[in-house]
Amino acid sequence: MYYNNSTVVFLDGKWVKASETTSSLYGQTLHYGIGVFEGIRSYKTEDGNKIFKAKEHYERLHYSAQKMEIDLPYTVEELTELSYALLEKNQLGDAYLRPLVYLGENMSLQTENESHVLLSAWEWGRYLGDKQLDVMISDFQRPNPKSCFVEAKVTGHYTNSILATNQAKRAGYDEALLLDMNGYVAEGSGANFFFEKDNVLYTAPKGNILQGITRQTIFELAEELGFQVVEKLFTPTEVYDADGAFFTGTAAEVAGIRSLDCKFFKMPWEHTLGYELSSAYQNRVQK
Ligand code: PMP
Repeated sequence: MYYNNSTVVFLDGKWVKASETTSSLYGQTLHYGIGVFEGIRSYKTEDGNKIFKAKEHYERLHYSAQKMEIDLPYTVEELTELSYALLEKNQLGDAYLRPLVYLGENMSLQTENESHVLLSAWEWGRYLGDKQLDVMISDFQRPNPKSCFVEAKVTGHYTNSILATNQAKRAGYDEALLLDMNGYVAEGSGANFFFEKDNVLYTAPKGNILQGITRQTIFELAEELGFQVVEKLFTPTEVYDADGAFFTGTAAEVAGIRSLDCKFFKMPWEHTLGYELSSAYQNRVQK
């Protein structure tokens, strides 16, 4: 699914076939989950391939690397240029790009100096699909922000996302909504969360969430469309009473939610501000 015999990746300064690469069994990332990564989308537009907000994504990769004391020896500009070359070499247009910085052999608990930079890409449909989602409040909370850098995109953080997704899927839901350690709604397993009530949009403030680049784009689009967005702490009870809700993320884009814990939102998705924002988002990424 992610590669075939002709897929080319960028690894440590070289273009190599994905099928011919290897990595160590003793790497620190494999054992302890210390690695940093990004999830980026490119869109095939009338003016050629466009990587949406490449600068913001690679700035976040640098932020994540710096917080985890990982060496990332490429600038934002270099990473952006390499990403366009990656798409070209693999003849990709609408694609998902996955930069990963992983670490060399080291079984100690201090960040290993040797880092490896991998850029790969593949065609990937919308992560949560196109249908409106049935969501459950997860039993798993987002990590305590004093236990990690929640705003860094660190590989190990995603064990929490996987546990929440496993539980939600097993219970027959499409996705999980996770609370923070104080019981306020934080975000999905791999996407930020918004709800809508009386024509106002609400989303969790920074502190317990990954501040998504799509979330920021929604702020920009809402402003252009004259929609009010409020960042505040809220509990699931407030969401049960909402008119509508949606997730935002690079992989998921803008994904409408129809129910939370089997309670259906009041408005049909097509009548919500979220729906308008989802089409505005599609227009924006194509520009
Ligand atoms: N929260 C989490 C936990 C995520 O993994 C993601 C995906 N990167 C997001 C939010 C959304 O971030 P973005 O819009 O930058 O993709």
